Amino acid sequence: MADKERQICDLLVEKAIEARQKAYAPYSKFSVGAAVLGADGNIYTGCNIENVSYGMTMCAERTAIFKMVSEGCTQFDAIAIVAGENATDGAPCGACRQVMGEFAADLDKTKVILAALNGDYIVETVASLMPYPFVKFKPQDE
Ligand SMILES: [Zn+2]
Repeated sequence: MADKERQICDLLVEKAIEARQKAYAPYSKFSVGAAVLGADGNIYTGCNIENVSYGMTMCAERTAIFKMVSEGCTQFDAIAIVAGENATDGAPCGACRQVMGEFAADLDKTKVILAALNGDYIVETVASLMPYPFVKFKPQDE
């Protein structure tokens, strides 16, 4: 990985670790943070937000991506996620992978950075985490 790419990954991991501090996880005690690099160059962060009615809980990744979209940016180039001591502790759930597929700038190139709390990370892509993605369809009345 080039120096510039590594710097961006490092920065996103740092921002995800910061965002994790804001996690609202009184029930699971499982805090997650995410940081998205939008195609507009801005970084959008998110944390998981639980609810006493468990099904209403929102993941950190989708919080960050939805913040990006609500600010007018509909594509992202990279996302970092951090949850625990191991880089894969914050591997995204199926719902988040689907949302990443919707807004990834390029399925094969958009990075998914799985980070540990100590800052170590591994880099995957949206495509590597979600083969055979459902990202478009043709309306049946066409
Ligand atoms: Zn999720």
